[in-house]
Amino acid sequence: MGKSPEYTIVGGGLAGMLVAWELHKRNKPFVIYSDDAPASSHVAAGTWNPVTFRRMIPTWRAQEMIDAMLRVYTEVEKEVGVDLLSMIKVEKILANDQEIDFWKEMAQKEISKDFLHTELHKITIDSEEKSAGIVKQTGRLDLSRYVSELHSFFTARGVLVKEKFNYSSIHNHSIYIFTEGTYCSLNPYFKWLPFKNVKGDILTIKSSDLKIETIRKKNIFILPLGKDIYKIGATYDWHDKSWEPSEKAKAEILEKFEKISNCSYEVIGHESGIRPATYDRRPFIGEHPTHKNLLIFNGLGSKGIFLGPLLAQEFCDFLEGKGDIHEEVSIKRCVKKYFNDNC
Ligand SMILES: Cc1cc2nc3c(=O)[nH]c(=O)nc-3n(C[C@H](O)[C@H](O)[C@H](O)COP(=O)(O)OP(=O)(O)OC[C@H]3O[C@@H](n4cnc5c(N)ncnc54)[C@H](O)[C@@H]3O)c2cc1C
Repeated sequence: MGKSPEYTIVGGGLAGMLVAWELHKRNKPFVIYSDDAPASSHVAAGTWNPVTFRRMIPTWRAQEMIDAMLRVYTEVEKEVGVDLLSMIKVEKILANDQEIDFWKEMAQKEISKDFLHTELHKITIDSEEKSAGIVKQTGRLDLSRYVSELHSFFTARGVLVKEKFNYSSIHNHSIYIFTEGTYCSLNPYFKWLPFKNVKGDILTIKSSDLKIETIRKKNIFILPLGKDIYKIGATYDWHDKSWEPSEKAKAEILEKFEKISNCSYEVIGHESGIRPATYDRRPFIGEHPTHKNLLIFNGLGSKGIFLGPLLAQEFCDFLEGKGDIHEEVSIKRCVKKYFNDNC
């Protein structure tokens, strides 16, 4: 590969591709290592939703996240010439009168009015009429395709190496950016970080009489993909560490699905993955406390699509000395409690 590139990215999932895209735009020399281990990015449903339903308010920096996200994914779509984004509505089924009143109240408030529609929809499930609120500014990215397209893009430019990165090859003259998702537990320099990974199962079904065109949510989501195909899920399991689909999770999804739909269906797919989640649900970003040429961009959890683009941009600004990592996502918050000099 000739002269060593300035940056080495380890991990070719969503996190690695977002950082690589930023460096590519900034004309920085880099190389990406990506092995073929199972990746969360190939399993994800790909939806985003800027509202926390418990309080009916926007999530952390929601509008900034959406603006960055739409900008970055659209740039990539144009560059690779493939449609990856779709603006599809999220329809939240409201459980009772109290939830209906709370939705109506919050939709009027300054803090939430850009994210919640005031008017509710009526939907009929099992001949029972339900109210549903529509969230604004929601959609889906075809994440698996996004990652594959960018792999082809970077392979064609000779900067993607389809190999497992060997940690003993690290030297002081290069900058390393670790984006290994849950495999960070194998990284001798960052395994001290308090990840709280969470497994998720997701099913693909075919149903000719479900006839849903929005993402429907209540305990689980139903995501229409067209041609009578839907993704339904997902589960959250903090104990099972295997990447294998679980029968228990499948039964759980189907039980919840049948509560919010009344249709015939056939299960045609079942996948599972492990989300790189953290103890406080905020990503892990920043430089190693003692090895300043080693950095991490990880912990995207269950909201990688939404959080990733803005945070990757800010991370690359930091690399260029143009700003600091936001304190809520900086790994500095964990150093005192979890790091010691042997790490
Ligand atoms: C069931 C399920 C549903 C989900 N739904 C959504 C959703 O709707 N919306 C959303 O935003 N998020 C969703 N997520 C979460 C989303 O998948 C993650 O936020 C995101 O994909 C994490 O990307 P990542 O790059 O950090 O990790 P991964 O995608 O796991 O990628 C890590 C990569 O690093 C590589 N790697 C690791 N170590 C090495 C090494 N030493 N050398 C070379 N390569 C290495 C691995 O092979 C892998 O390719 C879902 C997750 C699951 C499991």
